[in-house]
Order: sequence, then C-alpha cells, then structure tokens
Amino acid sequence: MKAPFAITLDVGSSLLNKTGSWRTQRPLYVDRLPPCNHACPAGENIQRWLYLAEEGRYEEAWRQIMDDNPFPAVMGRVCYHPCESACNRGQLDEAVGINAVERFLGDQAIKHEWRMNPGKETGKRVMIVGAGPGGLAAAYHLRRLGHHVTIYDAWPQAGGMLRYGIPRYRLPREKLNAEILRIQEMGVDIQLNSPVDDILAAGNEGNFSAAFLALGAQLPKRVEIPVEGKVVMLDAVSVLRKMELEEPTGLRGRVVVYGGGNTAMDVARTAIRLGARDVSVVAIEAQEHMPAHIFEVNEAREEGATLICLRAIREVRGNEVILEKMVPGEGRWPQPTGQFESIEADVVVQALGQNVDTVSMDGVSGIAVVEGTVQVGADMQTGAPGVFAGGDMIPICEVPPTRRQTNRRWLLSTCSIPGITPTHRERFDRC
Ligand SMILES: Cc1cc2nc3c(=O)[nH]c(=O)nc-3n(C[C@H](O)[C@H](O)[C@H](O)COP(=O)(O)OP(=O)(O)OC[C@H]3O[C@@H](n4cnc5c(N)ncnc54)[C@H](O)[C@@H]3O)c2cc1C
Ligand code: SF4
Repeated sequence: MKAPFAITLDVGSSLLNKTGSWRTQRPLYVDRLPPCNHACPAGENIQRWLYLAEEGRYEEAWRQIMDDNPFPAVMGRVCYHPCESACNRGQLDEAVGINAVERFLGDQAIKHEWRMNPGKETGKRVMIVGAGPGGLAAAYHLRRLGHHVTIYDAWPQAGGMLRYGIPRYRLPREKLNAEILRIQEMGVDIQLNSPVDDILAAGNEGNFSAAFLALGAQLPKRVEIPVEGKVVMLDAVSVLRKMELEEPTGLRGRVVVYGGGNTAMDVARTAIRLGARDVSVVAIEAQEHMPAHIFEVNEAREEGATLICLRAIREVRGNEVILEKMVPGEGRWPQPTGQFESIEADVVVQALGQNVDTVSMDGVSGIAVVEGTVQVGADMQTGAPGVFAGGDMIPICEVPPTRRQTNRRWLLSTCSIPGITPTHRERFDRC
C-alpha cells in the first residue's frame, strides 16, 4: 500500500510543498493537575467529585471533598471559586458551576447527617490556638490521623472570621455550626473564651507534642484622620463582630465606609440592612484596581451603596468628610492631586485590612515575624521546632494569580502538618 504523502515527505522538504513548514515533535509526559484542581486553595480533587456527583453518588462525592476540605457547605457559599476562573470551559461559553455543586453536596451531608470517623488513636497531643477555619481544618485532619487535639480560642464561639467577620446573609450560621459540630463529634476538644497569652507556657502546661497556630489577623489597620466634630469613627472588624454578638454597631444615618476590599462591601451591605439612610464606599483606587471582587462591588451597588473611587479621606470637619481627589499613578498606586471635595456623614468606618497580633508569640525563640506575618517553611513549620502556623497569620504564597486567594491560606493549613494529607502537601511544593 502506498504510504500517505505527509509521512513520506522528507524532513527539510516541507517548505517546497507551500503549506508552511512542518516539524516533528515528540510528546512529553507532564504530570499536571486539571486547571480547576490546580487553582483550588483546598487542593480538592474536583474532577473526581464532580464525576461522582454527576453519577448521583452524592455521599461518595462529599467524602471525596472531605478528603481535603472539611467545610464544603461553607466553601460552597463563601469561596471566591478560583476553580471556576481557571475552568477551560469558561473560554468556550461558561465555567462549570463547581462552587454550586460543592454547596449542594455540603448541604446534602448536613441534611443526611453524614459523619467522618477519627483515626486510630496515636496517643500524641496537639495544641491548636485559634478556632477559625485554619485551626478547625488542621484539627479535623489531625483527628483523622488519630492525634488528640485541643483548640483554644479567645471568642465565645468557634469559627473565627467565618462567624465574626462574614455576615450571616452570606453565610447562614446553621451551616457553619453544623460543619463545626461534625468536627467536634470526631473528638476535637474546643476550649472557648480561652485566650492564649503565652504560647510556650500553654504548650508546656498541656504537655503537647506539637502546636499549630492559627490566630488569624484580628487587629484592624487604621489611618490617622483628624476629626473635628460629631462624626463617629469605627473600624470594620469591630462593627462586624458586634453584629454577630448582637451588640449595637453604631451604624446609623449617613455611613461612609473607607476601603476598597470585600470587607468594605460587607460593612456597606450590613449598614444598608440595618437601615442606614445613605451608604457610600470611598476607595482610594480606581474601580478596576479595587481589591474587592467585582461581583461583591456590584451586589453592594445593587443594594444601594454609592461607590466613590479615586478619593482619599483627609479629615472630618463637623459632618463633612473631606476627600482628596486622586489620579492613577505609576504602577497601580494612586497619587494625590491637591484638589478636594466633601461628602456628608454621621459615621465613618475604616475597612482597610487587618494585622496579625503577635504578642502571644513573644517568648518563643525561633518564630520570625516579617512585615507583620509569621514566617514558615515549606512544611509550614515556624523556626521553633514543633510549632506550626497557617491561615491568615502567614504570608500569602507566591503562586500564580488564580491561586492567590485569601482563603488559600487557611485551607493550605489543612495540608500543613507533617503526616497530614501528604499527597496534597506535595501538590503545594512550589509555594
Ligand atoms: C469581613 C470579612 C469577610 C470575609 N469574607 C470572605 C469570603 O467571602 N471568602 C473567603 O474565602 N474569605 C473571606 N474572608 C477571609 C477569611 O475569613 C479568612 O481568610 C479566614 O477566616 C482566616 O482563617 P484563620 O483561621 O487564619 O483566622 P480567623 O478566621 O481570623 O480565626 C482566628 C481565630 O483565632 C482566635 N485567636 C486569635 N488570637 C488568639 C489567642 N491569642 N488565643 C486564643 N485564640 C485566639 C480568634 O478568636 C479567632 O477565632 C473574610 C474576612 C473578613 C474579615
Ligand atoms: S474550595 Fe473554592 S476553589 Fe476549591 S472547589 Fe470549592 S469553590 Fe472551587
């Protein structure tokens, strides 16, 4: 049989054929994750659980998620779903609705009371400081390995910023409570109203073999704004915390929220729900450079918040908030113009981010704090042997943009303690 023309063509002769140059290439086997899985901060095996869900095998699909992430119902609501941004299907028409399926599976588990079992007891004891998602996720994985875990938290209820930051209208508390209860039922001991002032002393007192620190970032960042008059100055963290504690927030009348991030949107939308007369969000950046996700900005605007971009609050006189006009500068940082305007307010809320409170680590030699965050190695261990850290208190990993999500840091902690889900730790080797 005559061989096909293309194969018989001599190497180097393709240009004569006037169909462009041809090359021969040898395929190279590369072991990579699918884009969604690669982008997921929890390292979930998305393609596997989607397949199971599609087959109607919901409990198996949920258990597959639980191999990596003990909070599907929570993440199915508040995760910014970088998996969907990475989804190849998005370049064709629309990304697969991964986040919605995760939420459905999480809710199925709560409805049917599916449970997870702890591992065979090892006799080892681990202290965790902080019952936010970082501490709780670490506790869950440690219990699956059979270690005894005690979590200490300063607040009256577990959940960290999931409870005392994210408003209820975005994360219903019955879902959060159910997923925390499931972890407790595995034998995790959570000591509430128990602030740890000295990590070393607490570790020695409890005779723990290792410690995992997940203190989060609790201290609100503030800028000095001269205030002359009656305008009340608040910060976002305290306002949202008071909402959860059902204490008066101070949000009333005309509210100006200062900041361009998601937390600013949460405060603005909370103020609207509390009946504030007029709610504005003042951001120093241009809209396209605001750290808030565009859908959060749009939702705040749809609910009635006014967005004022490229303005910096300089001072408050009487009820007048003096704004300096800014222009986009080199890079993305805006520059002042020396031109001013004013808006009226009764309350100004600063929503400019949070810092880590490192006081409780003062006595621990080896723990390095650089630019406000605790430094950890590839195994998430600090410079103090046996003391690990994760969540918001450690720096964001230098990873591709789709993976640089806030939530990545706390879910990364699920794979951070030696012996925990090694497969997934390996996946994050490049961090
Ligand atoms: C308003 C707001 C909205 C957010 N929305 C989203 C969102 O929609 N999606 C998303 O993915 N992320 C969101 N985030 C970010 C997310 O909540 C955090 O990344 C995450 O909660 C960090 O988890 P963590 O466990 O590191 O810390 P945290 O959640 O801050 O928990 C730390 C815990 O440690 C305790 N603690 C601190 N110091 C001590 C001590 N010395 N002794 C004892 N206990 C201590 C605290 O009481 C707290 O319970 C939001 C954050 C905020 C503030
Ligand atoms: S945790 Fe977030 S990124 Fe991972 S699968 Fe769920 S929605 Fe996607």
